[in-house]
Amino acid sequence: MITFENEFVDLKALQELGLPEVFQPSLKTLAPLLDKYHQRSFLQQVDLPVPKFSLWSSQSKVIADYGFPLVLKARRHGYDGQGTFIIKDIEGLEWLAKTVPVEELLVEEFIPFERELGIIAARNGLGDIAVYPVTETFQQNQVCRWTITPADVSLQVAEKVKAIARTILDKLEVVGVFGIEFFLTSDNRVLVNEIAPRTHNSGHYTLDGCDTSQFAMQLRAVSGLSLGSTNLKAAGVVMVNLLGYEESESDYQVKRDRILEIPHSFVHWYGKTSRPGRKLGHVTVILDEKKLTQAKSVIEETESIWYGE
Ligand code: ADP
Repeated sequence: MITFENEFVDLKALQELGLPEVFQPSLKTLAPLLDKYHQRSFLQQVDLPVPKFSLWSSQSKVIADYGFPLVLKARRHGYDGQGTFIIKDIEGLEWLAKTVPVEELLVEEFIPFERELGIIAARNGLGDIAVYPVTETFQQNQVCRWTITPADVSLQVAEKVKAIARTILDKLEVVGVFGIEFFLTSDNRVLVNEIAPRTHNSGHYTLDGCDTSQFAMQLRAVSGLSLGSTNLKAAGVVMVNLLGYEESESDYQVKRDRILEIPHSFVHWYGKTSRPGRKLGHVTVILDEKKLTQAKSVIEETESIWYGE
């Protein structure tokens, strides 16, 4: 059996192997998800809320339809905001058109979201579904900086997110773990931004924070086991990505040791060499009921040790 840790796969080549039964999630499940335009079209077909989107038509029509700011995205192989362009004005659009073939991009309405949310959800071959708590995610320059779980949202919003996740997993007959990202607007609308057909950065908190980590869950789902508990082990958990901020061979041992002095913290170091923006590791901090309201200050403390005061 073969499963996936990313969606950058050559689906046609895998289909030509003539071994559809070995892949979990199936190639049929993955087919509408690998291209952002196909993915948005799938979501729209099953009546789930997405930002307004289209293919490129012409500069004047795109401006007339979307105004500024507008969002352009590479249809495939984007990650950590690589391939996502938030365009503020005509000069920005003209610059982009000189840099990349804009007519190949997905065009999308800019959502002035209040917050971004994420959820990890799993489904096994029996059709059982397990959803984790809703997570708040924070992106800077389109890269995830941190997450807080559970997200401080109303019960209605949390239920909406969970219901959307269940619908997506059922409609696609998913076997495996998916990470789904959302925009929450100030009038409490929830729009799907992206389905990642795999374990996801927004679920790294589950490693130390939940009864079953997203990785254990992936193995359980694809090997036909019952799905484990998705409960948090404590009142809450924050996850902070350790992003590279320089070119360096350092293992940053001193900073990692200082972060470990934060009570109930865990440092996961990936052993990579540093370059700006590269995800070098992540930190989780488990919060009890009293500390939950201080999640943001725990994030600030971690980031100030990592990036420097
Ligand atoms: P990637 O596939 O690289 O993760 P995303 O499509 O998830 O790219 O975009 C990365 C980030 O860019 C999002 O988390 C969000 O902060 C911002 N973004 C993307 N699309 C929009 C949009 N339509 N409106 C506003 N912000 C957006």
